Amino acid sequence: MSLTEIKSRIATAEAAADRVPGSVQLIAVSKVQPNERVEAVLQAGHRVFGENRVQEAAGKWPEFRTRYDGIQLHLIGPLQTNKARQAMELVDSIHSVDRLKLANTLARLAQDLGRCPQIFIQVNTGEEAQKAGVLPSEADAFVAECRRLDLPVQGLMCIPPVEEEPSLHFALLAKIAARNGLDGLSMGMSSDFEQAIALGATHVRVGSAIFGERSASA
Ligand SMILES: *Cc1c(COP(=O)(O)O)cnc(C)c1O
Repeated sequence: MSLTEIKSRIATAEAAADRVPGSVQLIAVSKVQPNERVEAVLQAGHRVFGENRVQEAAGKWPEFRTRYDGIQLHLIGPLQTNKARQAMELVDSIHSVDRLKLANTLARLAQDLGRCPQIFIQVNTGEEAQKAGVLPSEADAFVAECRRLDLPVQGLMCIPPVEEEPSLHFALLAKIAARNGLDGLSMGMSSDFEQAIALGATHVRVGSAIFGERSASA
């Protein structure tokens, strides 16, 4: 388990980019990992985790929460509207808000529940047909719409195309966030979190570099 090593690489990247120490949140992405590995990271004192499926998150985190205080859970995968209520009851932050129908559903449920997780809007910076997210050209209007719905928009999220230089996508996301007055940038994974920090990431989503390779694909 190399949680310590990842934390020190984050600290080094923060210093290199003149970022405030501790300003980057490490989201340990625990999807598909065996519970023993997740438990080892909890025992090492880490409390911020990411999951990409509501069902899977619902199956493991309520139990962990009874045994460990201060767990913060981030949903980083696609969210169907019929799972939105369950997601809102379970997680502290949703990084995959990417369409009006979902934004409307979250706003309505927030009224019902009297609370709402922090929201990140996913931007499809590579304009890939198979990938979720609003197009860069539609991002400003979508941010405005989410704000009009009173959703707590904390920032933007992206997943760069695998075969492209991620820094171009991180820079584009940072630019869209800046012109919309958003501070949060959820970007950077195991292979590129240091580049993301150099370009302003506030939340890095790191899975396999902490937990080891996932046995099933996700
Ligand atoms: C799985 C996943 C990650 C973590 O990926 P690693 O390469 O294992 O660090 C980050 N973000 C999202 C959206 C994911 O689905």
